[in-house]
Amino acid sequence: MIPPGSTIGIIGGGQLGRMLSIAAAQLGYKTHIYDPHEDVCADDVAAYRTRAAFESAEAITRFGESVDVATYEFENLPVEPLKALGEKLRPGVRSLAIAQDRAAEKQFIEECGGRVAPWRPVASLAEVRAAIADLRAPAVLKTRRYGYDGKGQAWIRSAEEAEKAWLGIGEEPAVAEAGVPFSAEFSVILARWEDGRHAFWDSPQNAHDGGILRRSTVPCSDSCSAQIPTAREAALAIAEALGHVGVLTVEFFASVDGPVVNEIAPRVHNSGHWTIEGAVTSQFEQHIRAICGLPPGVTGLTRGHAVMENLIGPEIERWPELVAERGVHLHLYGKGEARPGRKMGHFTRVIR
Ligand code: AMP
Repeated sequence: MIPPGSTIGIIGGGQLGRMLSIAAAQLGYKTHIYDPHEDVCADDVAAYRTRAAFESAEAITRFGESVDVATYEFENLPVEPLKALGEKLRPGVRSLAIAQDRAAEKQFIEECGGRVAPWRPVASLAEVRAAIADLRAPAVLKTRRYGYDGKGQAWIRSAEEAEKAWLGIGEEPAVAEAGVPFSAEFSVILARWEDGRHAFWDSPQNAHDGGILRRSTVPCSDSCSAQIPTAREAALAIAEALGHVGVLTVEFFASVDGPVVNEIAPRVHNSGHWTIEGAVTSQFEQHIRAICGLPPGVTGLTRGHAVMENLIGPEIERWPELVAERGVHLHLYGKGEARPGRKMGHFTRVIR
């Protein structure tokens, strides 16, 4: 067990690092943020900071010596330098390596018995064309690496659009994935301990807009809830096969044939922000509990319903109205410029 008073290293200083730091502080831990950028929003709430490149094994080694346990808050990180953290890194590099490469991820999910959309790895226009002939349009091209919030993706609505999509994603190694007809999207969020204990939260139903999460609602609709037992089984099989320690999120499409995994995130997730007020133990606190070996917190709902909505780009200007609204829990991330598509904050309503 890593007791309160210890220091938790967090690689990445965005809003997830910020909310993890707040939860860690509540339990008496200090956090140390590792991020190459000058000004990150976790700085406001963390005790220590290293500013160095994610590629620097030397800086990561020094960071590792200064913390009692380390975790990461996003997955676009080079894996090799993180190996210097050894057992201190939770979840380990395996979770990261699988989740950051869409082809490895899909193959792994299938090996764990989960369903994914029919897909092919592609590395040239000829391969994209062959994949579309096979999978049929509509399909979506997604870069294997460095995609998030719908970035690095292009839809192919007919075979003629293959070239435009290939150029659109920058001719990067990618996966071609069949479009899944779904009635809804939902996620399974779980936390797992080193000894195999685990806990699920109620699954939120997620609405996206332009590839970015717009809203998460708990409880989810009946069409999703019927699929949750199968989805949980798949998510737990993935967590176990990874030897994952901490929070793991698996995003699903509710299709007529059952749950189809879209992607996994080896970390706390935007679709779990509602747990801060909507669940007895938030995803952030539970992640800290799991990586430090504290007992699991209760994950049940605090009230009947919770709805979380993101404030994206200029929507941040709604803050005066939201902060004045009774029952709204407003979270502003303290970021500077409200660029389009940038997640600036969120708010949650918890309803009887
Ligand atoms: P992703 O970045 O992979 O999570 O994709 C962002 C969003 O695009 C998803 O949440 C879906 O709304 C949509 N999407 C991605 N892949 C597919 C697919 N194969 N079929 C249908 N919709 C998809």
